[in-house]
Order: sequence, then structure tokens, then C-alpha cells
Amino acid sequence: MEKEIKGEESLTDKDMAIVFFGELSTKGKNIFDFIRLLGKNIKTHLKAYPQLGYEIHKDHIYIVLNGVPYDQVAKVLPLIPGIHAFAKVKAVAKDFDRIASESIALAKASKAKTFKVFAKRADKTFPMHSDDINRQIGALVLQNVPGIKVDVHEPELQVHIYIRPECAYVYGPKEAGMGGYPLGIAGKVLTLLSGGIDSPVAAYLMMKRGCRIEAIHFAAPPYTSDKVLTKITDLLHVLNTYQPEIKLYVVPFTKLQEEIYEKAGTSYAITIMRRMMLRIAQKVAHAGNDLVISTGESIGQVASQTLKSMSAIDKACDMTVIRPLATYDKTEIIALAQRLGTFDISIRPYDDCCTVFPVKDPVTAPHLDEVEKIEGTFDWNTLVNECVDNVKKIWIKPLPASTNLI
Ligand code: ATP
Ligand code: MG
Repeated sequence: MEKEIKGEESLTDKDMAIVFFGELSTKGKNIFDFIRLLGKNIKTHLKAYPQLGYEIHKDHIYIVLNGVPYDQVAKVLPLIPGIHAFAKVKAVAKDFDRIASESIALAKASKAKTFKVFAKRADKTFPMHSDDINRQIGALVLQNVPGIKVDVHEPELQVHIYIRPECAYVYGPKEAGMGGYPLGIAGKVLTLLSGGIDSPVAAYLMMKRGCRIEAIHFAAPPYTSDKVLTKITDLLHVLNTYQPEIKLYVVPFTKLQEEIYEKAGTSYAITIMRRMMLRIAQKVAHAGNDLVISTGESIGQVASQTLKSMSAIDKACDMTVIRPLATYDKTEIIALAQRLGTFDISIRPYDDCCTVFPVKDPVTAPHLDEVEKIEGTFDWNTLVNECVDNVKKIWIKPLPASTNLI
């Protein structure tokens, strides 16, 4: 497939990283689009290292290090959606002695007490079968690495030998990637970002699944302070780790929100507010070519997130609304938020537009005819269009590495 190797063409004796795709192998004809996009995304994430070379194959991507320390590359690879695992690999000539010496060096450097050899032969012209390679290399490792033993069930070190037409690859342990699909392969999604704990986690899960995100935030100044916007921006800077450029839409929501609270009284205000958010989001999504909307809602978390509430809310828009956290417990969401680094930003105490308009008795099973009756008492359509017409667009790009967001 695609080749972009810096310097001399031969891979022999080069230090490289090998990238595995996992789930992509089930993607049939689309597999080439997947791999090409993943290759492009890897190059974007590693653009600080222009000396790296890339070789993109049907079932692996090789990154030729050309002097870049493997550890630098290994820090970046777990942040790229679509990479399931990766490993440090040495490319050697398809020569048994050379493969053996590299396998011995790997076992010595690992300091493992037990090992097992896993040979795979994509080049069927290589004169030995995989089983013979396993046995003979295994014997040489035993002879040359003092104290090491074979363990076929739970080896501390897996010595992988992959023989391909161009050369043989020798590699040890695989490191876990973040999984999922290459960013952008699924299309673009408009994600509702409130500044709370849940919505940035939901946005991350959408990106992990291959969706490029755009974010929309509903702001209600002067009830909400500018600090909420700083919080939203900082959350998106964390998400820049996975998607280097994110478009943020800020909706001036105050007038519509005041009108909702005046007309809806208490119990239906949140239901109607959420319906208005979806109506606005849908218009923004259509204009921005976003295919679906996503939110941080979770079944039963609050009154507006019961199945009956979410059904009544969804009826306000035709677009598919995906709720990646629907089945998550709050403790699971918090654990993921902490791992991602969004938690400490989310818990900053600034109010967003939902908390400054508190509701004492929100309905958990809203009736659609009641919702429609209330919505019939004011000209929400004009107010929704005003919100859409006055949306502010901001591009959020990575901060310098030294910036501390917390
Ligand atoms: P989070 O759910 O992010 O922790 P929260 O709990 O304050 O924040 P909820 O009341 O649970 O928010 O709102 C449910 C979802 O609705 C949010 O996850 C988010 O997707 C969306 N949402 C709520 N308020 C806003 C807002 N001001 N701007 C954009 N989206 C919002
Ligand atoms: Mg929530």
C-alpha cells in the first residue's frame, strides 16, 4: 500500500513502531478508507516529528523512527482513535540468523523470566514453517539468555516474528491503544456541551467511535458568567488531545430562556428548554453538515432524563440524538472524566444556564399535549431563529504543551 519512508527505501535494520487496528479488520471493502484515514490522523498527531517515515499496509501501519525515541511516539499513539495496540519493532533481513539474533536481543533486554515465540509467515516463500521457526528460535533464546524458561500458557514475554515479503519484523509486548475508529470516519456530530461532568465525557466517547465533533454551548448572560465560557474552552482544550481543531458554537440563549420560564411555570420548563436546545442544535447541525446530535444525558440521572422525558424532548427534532452515556452510572462517568482530565475543570463552581434557572418540581413523565399547549402560548420560532442567527463560532485549538488548565 502507501509508502512514505524517509531516507533510503529499505526497512531492514530499522527501528519502528507497529500499529494494530483491531476492529478495522472486520470492515470489508471500506477497510482502505479506514486505514488511509488512520494513517493521515497518525501523521497529524505526530507532526512535531517530521523525520518519521510511514508505511501503510492492509493490516498494520509501520512508523519508521529515523532517530526519534520510541518513547516519544509511544506517548502519542494511545491518544489516537482507531489504534487498538502498538509495539516497538525491529525490521531485519529475512535471514534466520538475523531473526534469531534480534529475538535473543529482545529477550535479553526484556529481563523476562519466561517467554514464548509467536511466528507468523505472510511470505510463504520463506523456507521454514511457523512451527519450525517457533521451535528453533525458542531453542536459541533458551541457549543464549541465561535463566529464561519457556512458558506456553502465560509467558512474561511474547517474542513476535512476522515474516513478510519485504523483511521480517521482530517485536515484543504490545501496548494498548484507545481502540475505537479513526476520527472522522463516521462523519461529524454536534455535541451539546454544558460545562458539567457528563457532556465532555460523552464528546470523548463520540470521538473514540470515529466521529469528528463540533460543540454547542447555550449561554445565558448575564445570569451566567464569562467564566463558564472559559470553562467550556478549557474542556475543549482537553478534547483537543484527540481532535486538534474543534469548532465551538456559543448560543445567546437568555431571551428564549426567560420566555420559557415565564410561560411554562415550573414543572414543564426544563422539558421545554431541552426541546428548544434541540431545535436550535438541529438548525446549527444542518448548516454545519453534522449528521447527528449528541448529549451527555444518562437514563434516570435527573427528571429530564427519564425515558418518558427524553422521548418527549426528542419529538422536537427530526435529527438522531445519540446519548453515549445513556447506560453509565455517575461513578463510571466520573472515573472516565478523571482519567481524561476533564473532571477538575467540570467541577469549577460556575453556574450554567440550567442551574441559574432552578426548577422545584420538574416533571418526570411529561405529556406531549401539555408541552404543545405551553409552546403554543409564545412565538418560540422567532426566538429560536434569533438564537441561530446570533450564534458565535470559535475555533478551539491546542494550547502550548506547558499550559496548566487545572
Ligand atoms: P453534564 O451533564 O455535562 O454533567 P449537567 O449535569 O449540568 O452537565 P444536565 O442537566 O445533565 O447537565 O444536562 C444534560 C445534557 O444536556 C448535558 O450533558 C449536555 O449535553 C446538555 N446541556 C445541558 N445544558 C447545556 C448547555 N448550557 N449548553 C449545552 N448543552 C447543555
Ligand atoms: Mg448530567
